[in-house]
Amino acid sequence: MNERNFADYHLSDEIKRALTVLKYEQPTEVQGEVIPDALNNKDLVVKSQTGSGKTAAYAIPVCENVIWEEKKPQALILTPTRELAVQVRDDITNIGRFKRIKSMAVYGKEPFAKQKEELKQKTHIVVGTPGRAMDHIERGTLDLSQIRYLVIDEADEMLNMGFIDEVEAIIEKLPSNRVTMVFSATLPKDVENLCHKYMKDPVNVEIEAAGITTDTIEHVLIQTKEHHKIALLKDVTVVENPESCIIFCSTKANVDKVYAELEEAGYSCERLHGGLEQEDRFAVMDGFKMGNFRYLIATDVAARGIDIDNVTLVINFDVPMEKESYVHRTGRTGRAGKKGKAITFATSYEEKFVKSIERYIGFHLNVKEAPATGEVERSRAAFEEKISGRRVVRNNKTARINQDITKLHFNGGKKKKIRAVDFVGTIAKIPGVTADDIGIITVQDTLSYVDILNGKGSLVLQAMENTTIKGKKLKVSKAIK
Ligand code: AMP
Repeated sequence: MNERNFADYHLSDEIKRALTVLKYEQPTEVQGEVIPDALNNKDLVVKSQTGSGKTAAYAIPVCENVIWEEKKPQALILTPTRELAVQVRDDITNIGRFKRIKSMAVYGKEPFAKQKEELKQKTHIVVGTPGRAMDHIERGTLDLSQIRYLVIDEADEMLNMGFIDEVEAIIEKLPSNRVTMVFSATLPKDVENLCHKYMKDPVNVEIEAAGITTDTIEHVLIQTKEHHKIALLKDVTVVENPESCIIFCSTKANVDKVYAELEEAGYSCERLHGGLEQEDRFAVMDGFKMGNFRYLIATDVAARGIDIDNVTLVINFDVPMEKESYVHRTGRTGRAGKKGKAITFATSYEEKFVKSIERYIGFHLNVKEAPATGEVERSRAAFEEKISGRRVVRNNKTARINQDITKLHFNGGKKKKIRAVDFVGTIAKIPGVTADDIGIITVQDTLSYVDILNGKGSLVLQAMENTTIKGKKLKVSKAIK
C-alpha cells in the first residue's frame, strides 16, 4: 500500500482545494500508481475494479493538465453506459470545480441537438458512450483536433456490449500525439490487442481486486426455494435493517415483482431497469444518492460503475449468471474503506452459478441459515422505526462542493454579442468580488449561466440587478437547476 499524499504530486491549488472539499485525503492504491505517470503524459493500461477510486485516478491528472484557455475539447473519455458517462462527468466537474473545468456527457437517448449546442461552448472534457460520440464526430459537432487525452473506461465491458469496433473507429480519428489510458476490471485478449495496437509503451498497472476481499465485504449465501425468496427478502431486510440497500434481480420482470411486493409492504423503495425511460433512470439514481428512499431494486444496469455513497447492504435476489457481475454488484458496498455486506439468495438450480462465482473470486461464500422467526420478530420494532424515517446521506460530495456555488441566469447571450469575458469583466468589478469568485460560464444564443463561487452568489445577484453588461441591461435571477 502506498503512504503517499496528494501534496506529493504537482497539483495546482485549485485541484488540491477540490480534493480537500471532496475529503479525498490520501490517494487510493490505483491513484498512487496512476497519477504520477499520467501527470507525465505516459500511456497506461490499468487493471482495476470499480470502487477502487479509478475515476479520480484519471480525472485528477486530466483536469490538472487541461489548458483552461483552450476552447476545443482536450480529453475524450469513453464509457460503456450512459449512467457511467454521467457519473464520470459529475466526478470531473467536482474535481475541476475550482479550475472551472467544463465537462459534458454525450450519450444516446438525449436529444442530439441539445448536446450539439453544448458542444459549441468551451468544453474541456467530453465523456461519452461510443455510439453517440461517433455520431457527433461524423456529423462534425465534436471537434477532435485538440484532443490530447483519451481514456477508455471499463474496456472489458465495452467489449461485452459489442462497442469495441466503434471504440477503434473513434481512436482512428484522434490526433496521434495523445495520451491514451485504458481502465478495465479484466484484460481479455481483444482489449490487450487494442492496447497493443494503439498505445505507446504503456505502463502496466495491476491493482488487486479490492471490491472482492472479505476484509471490506462480508459475503453471505442463503439457500432457498424460488417461491420463498420474497418472504426471505422481507425477513432478511428486517433483521439487517440496512441504512441503504440495493436488491439485484436478473430480469426486469423480477425487479417489477419485488418492487411491487416491497412497495405494498410499505418499504421506501424505487426500481431501476433498462425498460424505464432514461430520464426516469437518472431521477431514480439521483433520488437514491440524495437519500429519498432506502431500497433500490435493480437489474445489472445499476451495477456497473455507479458510485453511490454508503450502500450498506447488497442483496442478490437472483444469483448473477455471469461471475463478473457478482463482483460488480457486490462492489456497490464496502466502498472507500467502509464495511459492507452482500447476501445472495440461491435456489438449487442456481448452485452452479454460485460455484462458478466462487471459483472466480477465489473463496467460498459464507453459507448461513435464513433468519429464524424469533430473530425477525425481535428485530421488527427497530426496522419499523427506521423505515418510517428518512435516510441520512452523510457524504453527498456534489452537494458539498456546490454548497458555496450559486448559478445565475442572465436573459441574454450570443445574439446580444455577449461573451464570457464580458461577464468576467463586469462581475469582477463588483466590490468584494474577484475573478476567482467566478466559476463556469455558459453563453448560449439568448441566455447565459454564470456560476458564482465562495458564497458570493447573493452579493453578485444584487449588484447585477443594477449593472449593465457591455452596455446592455440583462435580467438576472438564480437559475433553477
Ligand atoms: P470509483 O472507483 O472511481 O468508482 O470510486 C470509488 C469511490 O471512492 C467514489 O465514491 C469516490 O468518490 C471515492 N474516492 C475516490 N478517491 C478517493 C480518495 N482518494 N479518498 C477517498 N475517497 C475516494
